[in-house]
Amino acid sequence: MTNSSLSTSPKTRDAIPSTSELRSLFNGRVIAPGDPEYDKARTVFYGGIDRRPAAIVRAQDVGDVARLVSLARETGVELAVRSGGHSNAGHSVTEGGIVLDLSRMKALDIDAPQCSAWAETGLTAGEYTHAAHAHGLATGFGDTASVGIAGLTLGGGVGYLVRKYGLTIDDLLAAEIVTADGQLLRVDDKTHPDLFWAIRGGGGNFGIATRFQFRLHDVATVMGCMLILPATPETIASFVAEAQAAPDELSTIANVMTAPPMPFLPAEVHGKPVIMAMLLYAGEAEAGEGAAAPFRALASPLVDMLHVMSYPEIYQEEGGEYHPLAAAHTMFIDILNRSIAETILDRLAASTASMAVTQIRVLGGAMARVPAEATAFAHRSAGIMVNIAALYEKPEEKPVHQAWVTGFAAAMHQGNDGAYVNFLSDEGQKRVQAAYPGATWERLRAVKRRYDPSNLFRLNQNIPPAAKDGH
Ligand SMILES: Cc1cc2nc3c(=O)[nH]c(=O)nc-3n(C[C@H](O)[C@H](O)[C@H](O)COP(=O)(O)OP(=O)(O)OC[C@H]3O[C@@H](n4cnc5c(N)ncnc54)[C@H](O)[C@@H]3O)c2cc1C
Repeated sequence: MTNSSLSTSPKTRDAIPSTSELRSLFNGRVIAPGDPEYDKARTVFYGGIDRRPAAIVRAQDVGDVARLVSLARETGVELAVRSGGHSNAGHSVTEGGIVLDLSRMKALDIDAPQCSAWAETGLTAGEYTHAAHAHGLATGFGDTASVGIAGLTLGGGVGYLVRKYGLTIDDLLAAEIVTADGQLLRVDDKTHPDLFWAIRGGGGNFGIATRFQFRLHDVATVMGCMLILPATPETIASFVAEAQAAPDELSTIANVMTAPPMPFLPAEVHGKPVIMAMLLYAGEAEAGEGAAAPFRALASPLVDMLHVMSYPEIYQEEGGEYHPLAAAHTMFIDILNRSIAETILDRLAASTASMAVTQIRVLGGAMARVPAEATAFAHRSAGIMVNIAALYEKPEEKPVHQAWVTGFAAAMHQGNDGAYVNFLSDEGQKRVQAAYPGATWERLRAVKRRYDPSNLFRLNQNIPPAAKDGH
């Protein structure tokens, strides 16, 4: 059974209090069907997800969160948890249940001298990053400003500082979590260390994170931005080799794709395969120029926007009401040579999607120096994270693009069955398990049993609680 098939039964629908009762329970806004903002409030980032919750509760404070968790526990109503709303699987909205929307909880308390910050989980990566930048400081999140710090952090967090400072969870010092019994727990490596371990990669399975305490780094100006190169088997393989050889200060995200008709791309390039790469060197400008030089030398750059800039400038502008339909597959590989690059180009050429992309993130550096068992994100030794994606227009085209993604992923498979939980769609329990290799899965199930034995937090990449005997 996939997660989205866990729908609310008519019985639990009846158990949901009326809208006016809900409004009297919470300090934050309660949005219900018929309200003018209902449709906007139930819309999530990905398109094709059209679920109608009985209510959306925009929590104003921890009390609201605890009350809604208790209500969900007592009534059995399906609870969707939404912070930034970017879940690939659309888990942040429910059919017939209640959405706990944390997007109004955005308090941020930065302790610049101590290089740490307490952040409420309604903040987006962009909001946090801009506020921290005012102090010349940063915590690494992902590649997109509008992604919520909550979902991203709970799954791991792979971004532009991954090689220099590790995953986002490697900068997580503590968190405040409302668990299934409605209690607010403060967790860190001394207090509830099992829960602190589990929330660093285990997603939203263990409770509602209301605040995170992050470590901040001295990252004010960086060297980087976009570099677009023609994509050939040689340039792709060499790009990866250079990214692997680069100092830890340099992290890259390379999208191999057909050049879209973007105004800054010469017209003759439109429709041709390109490497649309984002580079970020977190260090001295001159050293950054040196680190970027081998990439610029791979071919005559079609676009070279690399420059010294403020760290938040790495976030590109986003289109307002953009809700793509997507078929995607997350995987890890170790080798990306010329022949694999050829496979990438052949498969991309065969796609009929409006946009087909192979995203390549070379890992390593600080992320790889954390022991696999230290957090619930255990893919520490993975060399390269690949995400294959087809973006398309019409829902009925899904089977074609899904088949393309599946075939492409099989051709790229190198023996590592692992998946990055934050890039999973609604793919069933086997794939959720693939996000948690080795002993991680059973350890997570044991923590789940301890903190959420009835699987209240189930509309997510779900980790079922261990049975009494541990299985
Ligand atoms: C355009 C785009 C770019 C992305 N880029 C990156 C990237 O560069 N690096 C990366 O690592 N990931 C990236 N992601 C993946 C992203 O990290 C996940 O989709 C993440 O779950 C989004 O978090 P959110 O808060 O925005 O989403 P939501 O949809 O609000 O939440 C997703 C899930 O997280 C859980 N959750 C959310 N908030 C809470 C909370 N407060 N307490 C408990 N559980 C909670 C729930 O299970 C929820 O279903 C990207 C996704 C998109 C769509």
